[in-house]
Amino acid sequence: MSARVAVVGSSNLDLVVTASRLPRPGETVLGENFRTVPGGKGANQAVAAARAGAACDFVGAVGDDEFGTRMRASLVDAGVDVSGLRTAAGPSGVALIAVDRDAENFILVAPGANGTLTELDTDDRATIAAADVLLLQLEVPLTAVLQAAHWARVDGTTVVLNAAPAAVLPSALLDLVDVLVVNEHEAAVVAEVASDDPPVLLDALLKLVPRVVLTLGARGAAYADRHGLRLAVPAPQIDAVDTTAAGDAFTGALAVSWAEHGATSEDTVTASLRWACAAGAACAQRPGASTALPDRPAIDALYDATYRGAQ
Ligand code: ADP
Repeated sequence: MSARVAVVGSSNLDLVVTASRLPRPGETVLGENFRTVPGGKGANQAVAAARAGAACDFVGAVGDDEFGTRMRASLVDAGVDVSGLRTAAGPSGVALIAVDRDAENFILVAPGANGTLTELDTDDRATIAAADVLLLQLEVPLTAVLQAAHWARVDGTTVVLNAAPAAVLPSALLDLVDVLVVNEHEAAVVAEVASDDPPVLLDALLKLVPRVVLTLGARGAAYADRHGLRLAVPAPQIDAVDTTAAGDAFTGALAVSWAEHGATSEDTVTASLRWACAAGAACAQRPGASTALPDRPAIDALYDATYRGAQ
């Protein structure tokens, strides 16, 4: 039976315009290409987990507009169960993204329907209870995140929190987290320390949660837990084309591997981190965001090519 991952989180439609340069306030610039791409960290990580081979349920909200229909369809296409996806009156969440030729961007997010996900119901509780891992981010109201994490704790589901976008978190939430996944920026904000030194960040975060995974871009990932285990996993060496959504690919794959193998030994934790790094790197090898999220064979291939024979 496949591992089960439940995601409670956001879904946005990314409206992306490329241009020779970004406009200044009050200025109009004639752009080049326009495309719409399903996004939002919750939906991206749900798609990442499904492509990585889990049975994945998504709990979230889209609006009653065309964008909502499109986002629902893209989750279904990826094999995500959308029984917990609400359609709220009003607009879907959107991200207006402008990208220039140097890949510099600006992004303006209107949460829309994501903001209506303030409460969960008994069906959501059953979904969370049936999952091995609950995967959370911070793009939907904190009340829903707290409710989901509370039920997971009560019903024995492992809580993985990707603290993105970065925020200082209440202890009520931190106390319910089993594994925190952060990049260096998020780590510094959550830990409230002014440092970019991974050991300092890990030490500070272990005061808040029992296990921490720190993603380090092309340098891979680091791990620390309260049992004293510390690991550094190098990333596969690849030609990065577009690192957008690499963090979502990493987090989705980590949740799947954790759901499959647990954290029973140093070996299983190492294997999960390596597999997640392979997923992040495989995503970075392809242009696009959610469209670049890798499937299980692609993750396995890069994992084998990179880590086979490694201790
Ligand atoms: P975020 O996008 O959330 O800041 P990172 O940039 O740390 O996250 O990327 C997440 C993971 O994706 C990394 O831990 C690494 O495994 C993989 N990754 C990202 N960029 C690269 C790269 N240039 N080369 C290899 N792997 C990468």
